[in-house]
Amino acid sequence: MRSSTETRVIETIADMRVWRESVRQPGEKGKPQVGLVPTMGALHDGHMTLVRKAVRECRHVVVSIFVNPMQFGPNEDFDRYPRTFENDIQLVREAGAEVVFHPAVTQLYPDGHGVATKVVAPGELTERLCGQHRPGHFTGVTTVVLKLFSIMQPDVAYFGEKDFQQLTIIKRMSKDLDLPLDIVGVPTVREIDGLALSSRNVNLTSTERKRASELYKTLCFVREESLSGRRTLEEVLHVAGDRLNKMPEFSLQYLEACDPITLAPLKTAQTPMVILVAAKLGSVRLIDNLLVT
Ligand code: AMP
Repeated sequence: MRSSTETRVIETIADMRVWRESVRQPGEKGKPQVGLVPTMGALHDGHMTLVRKAVRECRHVVVSIFVNPMQFGPNEDFDRYPRTFENDIQLVREAGAEVVFHPAVTQLYPDGHGVATKVVAPGELTERLCGQHRPGHFTGVTTVVLKLFSIMQPDVAYFGEKDFQQLTIIKRMSKDLDLPLDIVGVPTVREIDGLALSSRNVNLTSTERKRASELYKTLCFVREESLSGRRTLEEVLHVAGDRLNKMPEFSLQYLEACDPITLAPLKTAQTPMVILVAAKLGSVRLIDNLLVT
């Protein structure tokens, strides 16, 4: 365990449980005692928006930083995933969060993540969209998130709408498993040109970075065109997906409009709906979405 002026870094489950016990007494009336912001680090302003909200709303805030091997496929970017721990601590300290939980992989998976018990959310949520391109990904996510909930016992946990499918699945897991906490979704933070902030953006070349805002432009185009009624939703998705895919750097994985609760694909444009996109830009996989209410 290490400590800084205001933010403590805790590396073991045992120390985390001791800390949690030390803040056991109920907080001010109406204010949640412990808020958790789970992250994989390489923190940016998207993450920090969640942390600042948690700090405003909760008496004690824990930010977890853990690049979870269970949610990466064998040919994915686990090794290449950016890790900027010292900078992360500085940002968390400035935001006023009390604890950073930073466990080693062996803390969370002492026998290896392959043989650990897993939490499996319903296939209709986990096997489509990102799940189709990243088999097992959401099982890795729900498993690690449930472990973090079990270790930290937060009253509230904050997740970004940036990962809309992930947020939907975690809400569903919480409901189905009667977890005693609130799941709060936070709107996506974007660059000026519309690109959603992501830890993976640093791996884009400068040409790819310039192109990357096309993802958000595509989402806006689908929203405007499908709601205008000039073309069917199917036509709009086809035209927009084709346009993106024809740009040399892009390889489209999906572009869909779905019901925001069930993630079932829609045949006609409606409100509310969520338009979701995933594409590879060079070697970097990017996702984004637009909630239309
Ligand atoms: P990650 O470190 O990518 O696992 O993200 C940790 C949390 O931050 C997740 O709940 C993400 O949805 C959220 N997040 C990541 N990027 C953004 C963003 N641009 N705006 C809002 N939340 C974000």
